[in-house]
Amino acid sequence: MTDRVLIIGGGPAGLEAANQLNLLGYKPVIVEKDDTLGGHLAKWDRLFPEGESAETVLYKLIKPVEHTPVYLNTIVEKADKEGNNFRVKLSGGKEEIVSAILVCAGFSLFPAEKKEEYGYGIYNGVITSSDLEKWFKTGKGVNINNPSKVGFVHCVGSRDEKICNRQCSKVCCVTAVKQACEIREKFPDSEVFCFYMDLRMFGRKYEDLYLKAQNKYRVRFIRGRVSEVSEDFTGKVVIKAEDTLSSKPLKVSLDLLVLMTGMISNNSIGEISGILSLNRAEDGFIEPSDSITKMYDSGKEGIFLAGAVTGPKTIPETLSEARASALAIHNYLSNKALQ
Ligand SMILES: Cc1cc2nc3c(=O)[nH]c(=O)nc-3n(C[C@H](O)[C@H](O)[C@H](O)COP(=O)(O)OP(=O)(O)OC[C@H]3O[C@@H](n4cnc5c(N)ncnc54)[C@H](O)[C@@H]3O)c2cc1C
Ligand code: SF4
Repeated sequence: MTDRVLIIGGGPAGLEAANQLNLLGYKPVIVEKDDTLGGHLAKWDRLFPEGESAETVLYKLIKPVEHTPVYLNTIVEKADKEGNNFRVKLSGGKEEIVSAILVCAGFSLFPAEKKEEYGYGIYNGVITSSDLEKWFKTGKGVNINNPSKVGFVHCVGSRDEKICNRQCSKVCCVTAVKQACEIREKFPDSEVFCFYMDLRMFGRKYEDLYLKAQNKYRVRFIRGRVSEVSEDFTGKVVIKAEDTLSSKPLKVSLDLLVLMTGMISNNSIGEISGILSLNRAEDGFIEPSDSITKMYDSGKEGIFLAGAVTGPKTIPETLSEARASALAIHNYLSNKALQ
């Protein structure tokens, strides 16, 4: 059993799948378009719901595959089926002959500047949840010291017909609650507000985090959409919203407004799905052949899927799928060997 398996994407899904394929006796090779492994996990500071260090989790995923061949700064340019194998042409002139391909190309973040009304890229005090993670992790990217009032806007770029994305991104409610608690921990004198439509705290221990945010950290949850964002002459961000539970309009001045940008389909997925003839759903994510019993199956022989390339997912969900995909590849290649 020495079949080579090409993994497109070296984020959590690709790393875990590579580890499992190694353990099953195959030879995975990872193609990563960026200059480092880890995908979005490499950008996060602490993980919900319990604040685990993202760096430690990433180390646990990278360590077992440290001897796996990796092409960094590389993408797939062409893949032709040749008998039971694929001849894959990579950028930089390299070529790989592989028995199966696993697509783990993940997701992109909704570009916040597309929702102009929130003032991202215009007002200093308006940042995204991803910018906030970067600030927590590196101390860089936010030009505000000691914020005393911070607001979070949920559903930016998700559940929004106007930008043609009706879907919920699933992870941003719990991320907002986690980040709201972190702000209160780092800046104990601060006031923190979360503006939400619905709170979707669907996972185990997520409700505990929500209760902690209310009872321990006194985060104020306000049900209502932010309708207007502007900046006053002192540089504070002024927001108008309606509290739909009390039916009262609100106006709040903030030092920092954090936009919870959603998970959308990977910007480069068009190219990959074109090269591999994969189906895409209406929301742009790759469509598996059966979204209940075969999330790992692309419907194309020898091509498999794992992680957020098929839709918003948490890291535990992504890792479980990566393991399922590795097993599906093993079954596929074992059956081929018997034919
Ligand atoms: C703000 C935010 C915070 C989050 N916090 C948490 C958390 O605390 N806990 C949790 O469980 N989940 C969290 N998540 C979700 C988590 O980030 C995802 O579950 C996880 O990153 C999915 O892993 P993935 O490998 O499928 O995709 P990604 O992390 O997106 O990795 C995909 C990889 O593929 C590469 N790639 C893309 N296109 C190509 C190509 N054409 N060729 C080669 N390589 C390519 C990318 O560069 C990347 O390295 C958060 C999400 C967001 C938006
Ligand atoms: S998880 Fe919450 S913030 Fe994210 S899209 Fe769904 S409802 Fe909105």
